Amino acid sequence: MMKIARYLGRDGEILEGVVDGDEVHEISGLDTMLRGGRRVGRKQKITEVKLMPWGIGRKIIAVGKNYADHVKEMGGSAPPESPVLFMKPNSALIGYGDAIILPPQSTSVHHEAELAVVIGKRLRRASEKECAEAIAGVICLNDVTARDLQKSDNQWTRAKGFDTFCPVGPWVVTGLDPTDRAVICRVNGEVRQNGRTRDFIFPLPKLLAFVCAAMTLEPGDLFTTGTPAGVGPLQAGDSVEVEVEGVGVLRNDVRAQ
Ligand code: ZN
Repeated sequence: MMKIARYLGRDGEILEGVVDGDEVHEISGLDTMLRGGRRVGRKQKITEVKLMPWGIGRKIIAVGKNYADHVKEMGGSAPPESPVLFMKPNSALIGYGDAIILPPQSTSVHHEAELAVVIGKRLRRASEKECAEAIAGVICLNDVTARDLQKSDNQWTRAKGFDTFCPVGPWVVTGLDPTDRAVICRVNGEVRQNGRTRDFIFPLPKLLAFVCAAMTLEPGDLFTTGTPAGVGPLQAGDSVEVEVEGVGVLRNDVRAQ
């Protein structure tokens, strides 16, 4: 298992590095991720680098309603018969420590703590087994959602697509089994969501096979697996954390526009 961070280099380029304790050691690129990464560059203190999100320039695919307790809190009576897919725009991505900006169009912006995976291999009409083997690593994602607009728009693109509505981080963990992980959200230190991925309605390999039967998944694409019960509003001044057991904590502050 390795933690691999993306962070900003001195000249504004995005670097990749292995996280080791409180240090990050630069490695030579995404395709080395599954093979251990060749350490090529400098070591820096993790607190001294600007962590960047994974998924920049790639697809971000998501599933709604994948935990029964969340389906219930959203007013649904039965779990969906097939996965409810949507996408988030790349322009929504932010990293660890960046601010979630509340847009003036919404009065109800919610947190959604989720386990997300980074795809490591091209997948097209692949089997569930091939999909499971193509997961490069696990990361924390906050599927920030304007709940009022999600309902009134009758379509989720705008509600889930505002700038800053896709915090991802703090780093990818390779070789981590995602099938029974705690997924926790804290707002100002108080636990708001606390679920486990073993309670998915659709298991991850099944979801990925469902997705790549429609669209090719490419290395570096993100897939996020849905949120457990306990979603709720964020206010300006809040600090929101998404923790995935075995990965780490993604922290972002919330600001008014
Ligand atoms: Zn979600």
